[in-house]
Parts: sequence; structure tokens; C-alpha cells
Amino acid sequence: MALLEIRNLSTYYGNIQALRGISFEVEKGETVAIIGNNGAGKTTTVNTISGLLKPRDGEVRFMGERIDHLRPDQIVRLGISHSPEGRKVFPQMTVRENLLMGAYIKTDRKAIDRSMEYVLTLFPRLKERYHQLSETLSGGEQQMLAIGRALMSEPKLLILDEPSLGLAPLIIRQIFELVRVIQEQGITILLIEQNARQALKVAHCGIVMETGRIAFVQEARELLHNDMVRKAYLGEKYQKEAIHL
Ligand code: ATP
Repeated sequence: MALLEIRNLSTYYGNIQALRGISFEVEKGETVAIIGNNGAGKTTTVNTISGLLKPRDGEVRFMGERIDHLRPDQIVRLGISHSPEGRKVFPQMTVRENLLMGAYIKTDRKAIDRSMEYVLTLFPRLKERYHQLSETLSGGEQQMLAIGRALMSEPKLLILDEPSLGLAPLIIRQIFELVRVIQEQGITILLIEQNARQALKVAHCGIVMETGRIAFVQEARELLHNDMVRKAYLGEKYQKEAIHL
């Protein structure tokens, strides 16, 4: 049984159908990257999984149980945590307070301390900034904080929506290295990225979305060598043209 199973999922914004009956699975321990252009439906997919949006049709199953009728906090309790697009850290709260918000489902002090230690070891930069207001952090640090906050609930499945968005190349590399470390610790990851090449390099499996549908699902390694994907999502055609100029 897959850790996460999506079956014929359709989600609407009013009359606009953003997901057109998508299906895919994520196996335990796997990193799955969802790539695709703006508006393809990537964020809608993960927001539906984490309960922020309700599907009109279809099912989301986590560890075999249907979760598509549950509230977001119930879904976090089951073990799905979401670092949203745009980071959404609480700017007027300190790093410590933001991280504690990520542990809101926990009441056991010791468990919270254990998660805090784990996150601060993973992100030493957050330890240095522990008592600083989050609005004073750089973009990369805020991204680390958003991921750290999501890890505070000790998720089985971590959803990362565009972790590299708006960051400098050096910082993007650091973020992807962290994704690799989290992955090596056995956490299953669903990763949304515009930065398709980097995402496919860390992922086991890649899902290509186009206008609310899944165009194809393949091993990430194969997608990196798929001509259509290279032209459409990895920008290779443009690089080659630039060389001819
Ligand atoms: P992006 O990288 O731009 O976030 P995406 O692949 O994540 O792209 P979604 O944000 O899931 O795409 O959007 C899917 C479709 O749903 C798009 O056509 C978008 O315009 C539409 N959409 C998204 N959010 C809303 C909303 N709040 N109200 C109406 N339509 C929306």
C-alpha cells in the first residue's frame, strides 16, 4: 500500500475546475516532484491533500484511510505537514515562536523540545536567529524557517511548495541539499518546483502536470532525459538557441 494515494481528484474554485480528475501515488520513503508551468494545478493539488481545499470528486488516502473530508489540523495530526508556497512565516513572531507554531498539535513538552532540537540541528542558522523576529530574516532563512516549522510536527509526509522560489542560486543549492538530508532521514517528500531540473535531481519520481491534468509520471532520472520535458521544462531549447547566436 502506498503512503499517499490520490484517486480521480477534482478541485474547483467556484465554477473553475483546477484539477481534472488526477491520480497518483507516493510510496513511503520516496521523494516525488511535481513539475509544470504556472497555473498547471500543482499548488491546488497539495492544498487539497493538506485539507486547505476540499475536492468536489475523488479521494485522498493516507496510510490507507480516506482523509479528504478531514480538517487541516486533523490531517497534520495524522502525519502530513505542509510548507506552503510563499513561506507564510509569521513576520511579527520570533524564529522560536514560529517553530513552536509548527508543534501546535503536540502537548508533551519533551516531544516539543525534541523536535526543536532536531530542527535547530538541521538548520544551525535558525539557532543563531532564534530570538529574532522572522521579518528580519533573509529569504533563504525564511524558507528554512518554513521547512523547520513543518518538521516540528514530526511528519511522515512533508509537502514542500516551491521552496526555491525567489532565492539566489547559492541559497537554492543549500535548500536542495537540506531536502536531501531530510529525505535521507526517511521522511517521504512531495516537492513542488518550478526549478524542475534541481527537483528531478533529488526526487525518485516526477509527475508532470499540465492544465489540471497529469501529463505523465516517470522515474525522475528518466524525465531528466526525456526530450519533451527537457524542451518544455528544463529550458534546454533556449540554451541551445542562445549558443547558436
Ligand atoms: P503556480 O506555480 O502559479 O502556483 P500551480 O501549478 O501551482 O501554479 P495552481 O495555483 O494550482 O497552479 O492553479 C491552478 C489553476 O487554478 C489556475 O488556472 C489558477 O488560475 C486557478 N486558481 C488558483 N487559485 C485560484 C483561486 N483562489 N481562485 C480562482 N482560481 C484559482
